Amino acid sequence: MATVVSTKSVRVFIDPSAALAPVRYGFPPHEIELRQLENSISKIASELLDVDVVIVTHYHYDHHDPGYRIPTDRYSSKFLLIKNPVENINISQKIRASKFLKIVKNAGARVQIADGKAFEFGSTKIVFSNPVPHGNTVKLGYVVMVRIEDSGDVFSFSSDVEGPLEDYVVRFACGSTVSIVDGPPTYLVGRAYTQREVQIARENLVKLSDCVETLVVDHHLMRDLNYVELFKEVSRSSTRKPISAAELLGVELNLLEARRSELYGISREE
Ligand SMILES: [Zn+2]
Ligand SMILES: [Zn+2]
Repeated sequence: MATVVSTKSVRVFIDPSAALAPVRYGFPPHEIELRQLENSISKIASELLDVDVVIVTHYHYDHHDPGYRIPTDRYSSKFLLIKNPVENINISQKIRASKFLKIVKNAGARVQIADGKAFEFGSTKIVFSNPVPHGNTVKLGYVVMVRIEDSGDVFSFSSDVEGPLEDYVVRFACGSTVSIVDGPPTYLVGRAYTQREVQIARENLVKLSDCVETLVVDHHLMRDLNYVELFKEVSRSSTRKPISAAELLGVELNLLEARRSELYGISREE
């Protein structure tokens, strides 16, 4: 989900981090995933040199790095617009947020709490949503969504809404030129996510597909090799077709986590 947005006035990095699932199909990350993670982290660290604003939508390690892998001097003199670190947050993210804030403040970042606020940088307006639940339970905490507007173009970023499950997400992203949305974790159906919730997510993705120019659906959905089924269902009911982040970038899909057991040489159905 690490995303750089360039406008006429400003370069913004949303969620500059990457991380691997500690366990999938009972396996730790494979060597190939670890190598890919190194590549992604070094790309993120180098992009960070050249941005003015850094946004952190919540405090999971795939969205922020508390100095583990990314050099902390990258935050020096940056504007940091962050999800509220003490309100609408769960305990584990609260602890991580306080650690992250210490580090970036020491590095010389100018930090502001962003929830529900708007900021202007030249001709660019950055608008934040109110906190929305991280998926189908507030146990995982909350995230803030982001909208970046300049000269009639609108970019929106849902962060980890795992669906979307709420009308508010659809309303916030509607009208975007490009919208990046976190799809439902279909790989968790029967455990932490229900078929009914997948259906709600599908209905909301159809609404979004009809009201944004380019809809990118990625992240949690891409942990399932059958993601394409949901893409097809949305396309059937909508005037437009959603795409993956890989398609947006014009690169090949590389669903390493979904293929983890295969990477270990074990063919296995979940
Ligand atoms: Zn998350
Ligand atoms: Zn995430």
